[in-house]
Amino acid sequence: MTDGQSLLLLFVALYLLECLRWLPPRSLLLLGHGSSWQARRPFQPVELAGGSPALLAFLPPLQAHVTTLPWLLVPAADGLEVRADRLRPLLLPWERLSLRTEGRTLHLAPGHRVRCLSEEHARQAQQQVQQWAPLAQEAREADFLRHAEATLKSDPLIGHAEALTGQTRLLRGLASLIFLWTFGVLVALYRWLGDDVEILWAAGVLFVLQFTQAVVFFRRARGLPYRFWKTLAIALLPQHAMRAADHFCQVAMPFPSHPLAARSLLGDEAWKKLAAQVWKQTRYQPAATADLQSRALESFLGQQGLAVADLEPAPAQQPGSALYCPGCQAQFQAGVSRCQDCGGIELRAF
Ligand SMILES: [Zn+2]
Repeated sequence: MTDGQSLLLLFVALYLLECLRWLPPRSLLLLGHGSSWQARRPFQPVELAGGSPALLAFLPPLQAHVTTLPWLLVPAADGLEVRADRLRPLLLPWERLSLRTEGRTLHLAPGHRVRCLSEEHARQAQQQVQQWAPLAQEAREADFLRHAEATLKSDPLIGHAEALTGQTRLLRGLASLIFLWTFGVLVALYRWLGDDVEILWAAGVLFVLQFTQAVVFFRRARGLPYRFWKTLAIALLPQHAMRAADHFCQVAMPFPSHPLAARSLLGDEAWKKLAAQVWKQTRYQPAATADLQSRALESFLGQQGLAVADLEPAPAQQPGSALYCPGCQAQFQAGVSRCQDCGGIELRAF
């Protein structure tokens, strides 16, 4: 491998590292701009320190991103239900809770923590649980339902997505140009000319682009932490210049929206698919709070004009089977009444 190729490989690796995020495993990343957004989940099989890796969109045209999060903490009569990852939810008895936040991590009890989207989010979640602990279960449920309804409202999410799109438009445009220059023009020129003096001119153009990006960023980033150091990195390092808009996207919403609040961003078809997934996971996962969460979802889906029955179509009947599981869609012969894989859900007849 020549020096030029090694350098290119190093740049690609550094750039991909800049595109990597460590998010709560159940979060849903929305990538896009304006009114066209796509959903992406973190890679849940890998989990470290309560987070899973997710790769942002890394090819131009570069996009903005917003992170949404389903309900992580739900009150049950016997304790707090923690739904941090795709595994079975965990029930922590109320008297065992000892809450404290550390950055964006909320420690719930010795050995149990959840990763939140921001420090503010961790603090708010802590306050919410502290409020629930002394209440009667009915009051806890009423408070949860109010909170659930607020997180499912689409206006805050749409407003946030629109603001981000406007704020980052120029930065993303310049970033796409820097991307094409670094990985396209410079590479082509290097192959064509080798270590010639023209390469230095092309590198000079890259530096001017980065410097422009840094000036644009500095002027817009009033109020962002470490503004000066971020600007310096953007001016000097191409991978930071390409990802300059991410600094705005990382400013989380004060209380994260539920993924299902993104109907108008995702489009009806993708949203309905997501709604069916979320509904099945909520309704048919063996959990102490499945009923409470289903109530919140059912009333929201009803408002959206979606009947729950439409989200649970029966699978195509295989010969010999008489019943199916509404959770995992597995089919059974007559005589069985519950699906053991789904924690004992009652089966339905075809
Ligand atoms: Zn099942």
